[in-house]
Amino acid sequence: MHNIPILLLLFQLMLSPIQVSEDINIKQSYVLREEIPILMYHEIGTPSGPWKELYVEPETFAKQLDWLAANGYTTVALADVYSHWYKETPLPEKPIVITFDDGYLSMYEKVLPLLLSKNMQATFFLYPSKFGTPTGLTPEMVASLAENGMEIGSHTYSHMDLTKASSQQLKKELLDSKILLEKLTKKPINFLCYPSGQFNSQVIIEAEKNGYQAAVTTQMGKASVSQEPFQWKRVRINYSDGLTGFIKKVQ
Ligand SMILES: [Zn+2]
Repeated sequence: MHNIPILLLLFQLMLSPIQVSEDINIKQSYVLREEIPILMYHEIGTPSGPWKELYVEPETFAKQLDWLAANGYTTVALADVYSHWYKETPLPEKPIVITFDDGYLSMYEKVLPLLLSKNMQATFFLYPSKFGTPTGLTPEMVASLAENGMEIGSHTYSHMDLTKASSQQLKKELLDSKILLEKLTKKPINFLCYPSGQFNSQVIIEAEKNGYQAAVTTQMGKASVSQEPFQWKRVRINYSDGLTGFIKKVQ
């Protein structure tokens, strides 16, 4: 009879090393990426009007993407960054986030096909009051961006300076945009981009209360695990950067 416990013990010994090694493998694949560049773009096109630096020529943008691919960068979503820093989900060695503010027509016409052709992804911060305007995306285009694997974030409802909003307005800007974008994309909207980079402690409290996980600013620098999640920095890419300036900022 005493053979049975021995057999059980042997069986356990056979099983336990496998389980231990699996645990080790999972832990080994998590290497903390302390700093992650979150690039900030606005319009991809030839400049027209006074805000030349908000544009990047399509050819230059394509060259910047090719440089990223050739230098081992992997484009990831903000959701991946958040899970990496707060839930220990592994990320590739050189993760990078590409973000676009405002939602110009070029996002659908130029940026989406370019990203798909290079097997890359980006995050688009949109505000619904721009939808359907002459330079803005249509709701159908927004849905298509999401269907094609792009991440959508809120840039509030009407792009107002949140530090000047009444508490009622603030809640409306944060929540109405989230609800509408979730309906359009059929995905949770967890990330926020402050219009004109304006925020204060009240804005952060309300954003958190209304279901956001993190927010990006216009403060220059790479995002880091040491920054508050509602104060992630970004690397602004300007018209005058070209490819050389771009490389300097990203590295
Ligand atoms: Zn904006």
